[in-house]
Amino acid sequence: MRRSYLVAAKSGLLAQRIVESRRLLKKCNLCPRRCHVDRLAGELGLCRTGAVAEVSGYGPHFGEEAVLVGKMGSGTIFFCGCSLLCVFCQNYDISHPEESDCFPVDEVQLARLMVDLQEQGCGNINLVTPGHVVPQILAALPHAVENGLTVPLVYNSSGYDSVSILQLLDGIVDIYMPDFKFWSADSAKRYANAEDYPEIARRALKEMQRQVGDLRINERGEAEQGLIVRHLLMPGGAAETDAILKFLAEEISVNCYVNIMDQYRVSGMARQFPELGAVISVTEYQQAMLRAEEYGLNRLNGTYKHTRGRSKLTHQNSND
Ligand code: SF4
Repeated sequence: MRRSYLVAAKSGLLAQRIVESRRLLKKCNLCPRRCHVDRLAGELGLCRTGAVAEVSGYGPHFGEEAVLVGKMGSGTIFFCGCSLLCVFCQNYDISHPEESDCFPVDEVQLARLMVDLQEQGCGNINLVTPGHVVPQILAALPHAVENGLTVPLVYNSSGYDSVSILQLLDGIVDIYMPDFKFWSADSAKRYANAEDYPEIARRALKEMQRQVGDLRINERGEAEQGLIVRHLLMPGGAAETDAILKFLAEEISVNCYVNIMDQYRVSGMARQFPELGAVISVTEYQQAMLRAEEYGLNRLNGTYKHTRGRSKLTHQNSND
């Protein structure tokens, strides 16, 4: 299957999007936070990322959905920083750069990571938390294409993505894999200080579905193009789960590939919220799966278990 970004690189669309997206860093409104800082001049907004992307690790990842893992793993690149910053973040050290060893990567180095992962046999490039580094990812692609990148690009986000930014990725990203975390504005406010999250995520998922449609899987069982939605079950969150599953079935597609995840653990600042101190029971998980089926969702991934599985990026890796 011919990759979207290869077509975009050839047609000039990619070059155009690189220019358009870089301009946004000057008064940053890349995500719904709209910090309006000048990242090109080194100012930092909520995501704590300046003009250059930072990476905490990369490597073949075997804990992702089977359709992404294939035989040799999903080629995962963990970007440091995040524009959502949930209190219970399951990757707290990575989303908070001050808690992690992060390494800057310019566009040539980022392209090299992509090509390196492909050469290791990974069936896709899985860009984790990419929303605040869209211009840097776009700028890396021509170098990656020049060096032979051909596997699908996966945009693995929190779902807190502005439609205007997603439109810059139209015709470039092959697979969107957003979370849908909160249905209630109160929860989004309490746990991520983003009461607009539910509305933003609904619009984002509709735009992603418009661009890539239902997930297409090749004869080897590997994802080629389309939408995968992840929903992490939260303690006491059954009503929100129910609303999210209903939305997916009714307003995205009953053929939407949905991963209902039960691996919530107390992480980050979740200890400060007593109601987040529980784990998800088998019964809660089964009820969520049942509700999804009742709404007509027919492509459920029930086997996902998150394992970090990332290899540490060293200075030597990023600069050699
Ligand atoms: S990408 Fe970062 S700096 Fe830009 S608006 Fe979002 S949080 Fe703020």
